[in-house]
Amino acid sequence: MRECSKCKVLLLTEDFHKHYKKNGGLRPDCKYCVFEYNEKRRPLNRLNEKKWRTNNRYKYLNTKKKYAKNNRGKLNAYAAQRKAGKVRATPEWLSEEQKEEIKQVYIRATFKCWREDMEVDHIVPIRGKNVSGLHVPWNLQLITKTKNRSKGNKYE
Ligand SMILES: [Zn+2]
Repeated sequence: MRECSKCKVLLLTEDFHKHYKKNGGLRPDCKYCVFEYNEKRRPLNRLNEKKWRTNNRYKYLNTKKKYAKNNRGKLNAYAAQRKAGKVRATPEWLSEEQKEEIKQVYIRATFKCWREDMEVDHIVPIRGKNVSGLHVPWNLQLITKTKNRSKGNKYE
């Protein structure tokens, strides 16, 4: 038995993470305290990561590029999954004209006249947390890239 330095509860050695060369090879605080600490810090960590990415843009892009090169299969699988989600969300009763309409929305997004880069967005997300929208013309809208990124899979 061993007392956790934080919560002061007597615990088994397996309730402590291994820590190289410290306190007999164990962390002073128990696994549960470590977990709690990490959970609390999570939003902050995410914010710090974002900050780091903007301050180290070149480094970040380089790492991203390297990752893409070494993980092409993974990324392709991800792209295919997204595509499959779209196919599943495309109803069979959609007419040829409506399918054409969808294509037009995507083409319109690539027009050069936009002040900012535009992307096609599903108003009701196709793979949302609580909702599943359809890949149909009336569920599509053009929004700026920045807005699309911040929207994610949320739907309010
Ligand atoms: Zn503890």
